[in-house]
Amino acid sequence: MITRTSPSCQTENTVIRLTEAKSWQQLLSDSTLTLAELLQKLDITTDDFTASIDGDPDINPQDFPIRAPAPFIDRMGKGDINDPLLRQVLPLAKEHDITPGYTADPLHEADFNNTPGLIHKYHSRALLIVTKACAIHCRYCFRRHFPYEDNQPSRAMWTKTLDYLQQHTEINEVIYSGGDPLASSNGQLSWLSQKVAAIKHIKTLRIHTRLPVVLPQRIDTELLEILQQWPGKKVVVIHSNHVNELDASVKIAVDKLKAIGVTVLNQTVLLKGINDSATALVQLSERLFDIGVLPYYLHLLDTVSGAAHFAISDNEAKAIMGEVTSRLPGYLVPRLVREEADKTSKTPILPTF
Ligand code: SF4
Repeated sequence: MITRTSPSCQTENTVIRLTEAKSWQQLLSDSTLTLAELLQKLDITTDDFTASIDGDPDINPQDFPIRAPAPFIDRMGKGDINDPLLRQVLPLAKEHDITPGYTADPLHEADFNNTPGLIHKYHSRALLIVTKACAIHCRYCFRRHFPYEDNQPSRAMWTKTLDYLQQHTEINEVIYSGGDPLASSNGQLSWLSQKVAAIKHIKTLRIHTRLPVVLPQRIDTELLEILQQWPGKKVVVIHSNHVNELDASVKIAVDKLKAIGVTVLNQTVLLKGINDSATALVQLSERLFDIGVLPYYLHLLDTVSGAAHFAISDNEAKAIMGEVTSRLPGYLVPRLVREEADKTSKTPILPTF
């Protein structure tokens, strides 16, 4: 765990031991799902909440419910309404604001949803919506309005998706996405991976997931065996936004992945009030390097409705990245990019110095 000064160290350690004793499935199903429970776990009163932010104390959004697992909540600071981890899962009344330019499908994914469960936007890569489930609900998520109900293929429907992959020989990399693909059972991942591995032109399996960060217990023996059986290259992109997320349990998960030959990278979203300073990003990159992960992309926020309060202007982002670039060796500087709806690759945003 990230060391914190705590007046109730013994209690905190007990909580950590209990957390470690549970299986990842138990931890997932025991996740915090209400604002009241989240605040109570962090010793924040409703009065503190309403006084500290421009929020509605009764907010408990049904369209994108609260979800946070205990191992992630354990890393938040007690009594701190501005904790950068809490801010990623804390719903605010501002989510209901209508902001020009912010839409339900900012990347026009519907245009590339060629068959259920598959998005083929980039020439050589196809993305599979493995599950709609996530271990955590990030308030800035660009898929918070995604029509998962239309993208939950049964095994019979996966046949259509696999046929698509078979026919498109230009696809050499499959990306497991979601939701969070590692919220799926090992049985489902094993079945799907064997089917995809049988398609000879697919050389690389890439998994985009927050599980190694928010619920590192997910990297269990069975999952490692499934990944070990993948015949080609394996890449896991963890999604970490703040240094406080990366405690010793995350390093253990990363070590396990690297021990079986997985390349582990990180991508981050630049988020107002969470990591919008050069110092926060430098600390994140340095900690990633400590645990054996290289920073990959730093994304500007996707303009999804409900998330405008996380946005940083391009000029602010460029200035922050100018400072980050001057403070870090090149291999620790993530590429600042924007994903644009109809572009066939990410758009690089150059820093200002
Ligand atoms: S898809 Fe990823 S970013 Fe979106 S809520 Fe799930 S874990 Fe968070």
